Amino acid sequence: MAKSKIEEYSKIIRPQNFDEIMMLAERVRGRRIKMVNATAIGGGVAEILTRVIPLFNELGIKTKWEVIKGSGEFFGVTKALHNALHNNKAEITEQMLNIFNETTKTNIAEMIFDEDVVIIHDPQPAGLIAAKEKSKAKWVWRCHIDTSHPQPDAWNFIKGFVEKYDASIFSTPWFAKVLPIPQYFIYPAIDPLAEKNRELSAHEINTVLQKYKVDRSRPIITQISRFDYLKDPLGVIETYKLVKKHIDCQLVLAGGGATDDPEGGQVLSEVQEAAKGDPDIHILLLPPFADLEINALQRASTVVLQKSLREGFGLTVTEALWKAKPVVASAVGGITLQVIHNFTGMLVHSVEGAAYQTRYLINNPQIAKKLGEYGREHVREKFLITRKIRNYLLLLIALDNPGRDVIQL
Ligand code: UDP
Repeated sequence: MAKSKIEEYSKIIRPQNFDEIMMLAERVRGRRIKMVNATAIGGGVAEILTRVIPLFNELGIKTKWEVIKGSGEFFGVTKALHNALHNNKAEITEQMLNIFNETTKTNIAEMIFDEDVVIIHDPQPAGLIAAKEKSKAKWVWRCHIDTSHPQPDAWNFIKGFVEKYDASIFSTPWFAKVLPIPQYFIYPAIDPLAEKNRELSAHEINTVLQKYKVDRSRPIITQISRFDYLKDPLGVIETYKLVKKHIDCQLVLAGGGATDDPEGGQVLSEVQEAAKGDPDIHILLLPPFADLEINALQRASTVVLQKSLREGFGLTVTEALWKAKPVVASAVGGITLQVIHNFTGMLVHSVEGAAYQTRYLINNPQIAKKLGEYGREHVREKFLITRKIRNYLLLLIALDNPGRDVIQL
């Protein structure tokens, strides 16, 4: 994959935004950062880190990425915590918390924290903060989850760690918590130059669609997501079945797993069962780094669905909007930052609503096209990686100036 050069972004974003990045980078050049999360492959956090870290290094901020280790049992515990923080029913027992604490200790014993700033992503590695007393770094907890209505036991457990950090980052003020540490708000973002988002030729798109035997002459409804209950893949199939009563369409439900998500296999088999017998439902189990495939599937779609029951942000929505696709998505979590109803896409609250809006957009291609165009501009303005880099640079400057509300640059 070609490495993106920072100058290339100047062709996509406003010149003043680009200049600002270069000016801010100058202020923090040479800083050493460590990013830590729970998986190198699969899911939005890995996606973001894969793109942000090379750019940081290119800007002179020496950034490393480490992934914590854990058994299947540990990731079962962290998945339950993840669900509970998203306000989805999950039982959290004393024994589970012990497993979490033991794995945290093992990871701490194997890691060295000698950077200037350590940024810990999400709950799985949150306990690493116990290593703070032996390090000189500033510690930041970056939360990618919609924590607006967490199960109290799960939040109280994680909060015990979070309070010890120097600062926290949430995706939007909607997810803010009562904390004794500063809270910063940074939207997630996509990289327009990544293989997953770059422009594709018609030939490239057709080749992928032929490979998966998807017929381009009939409407295609697509959801790209890990096989996770919270992405509601069964709701996607129900939606498609309602649309199919009126329109001869196809469904592409494509996704892989993440190494920190042990539920994927079970969800996939339920999805395969629900799709059985319908040759127009394409359940695609994608390998890691299927970026070109995902790009092509999104671009070939007539409508992109994101029928999540909970969602921290939903990078798959951003990716589809950037490709000027009409999006029908649940009005949950960070999706509502991206999809402004009837302007950059359609927000829905049920299977019936999703089916109604999907039919409407398939039957009204001019309206679908307009939504897509507005969606792309919305992403250009708010959800591209350059804006995120700018925010992170400002964060590094803020960490150098604790307690100050106004910093002269
Ligand atoms: N993704 C992928 N392969 C898959 C499924 C998803 O590369 O099989 C990518 C997807 O394109 C997006 C990210 O993983 O970039 C998912 O991020 P999102 O915020 O939508 O959801 P998360 O998985 O983090 O809950």
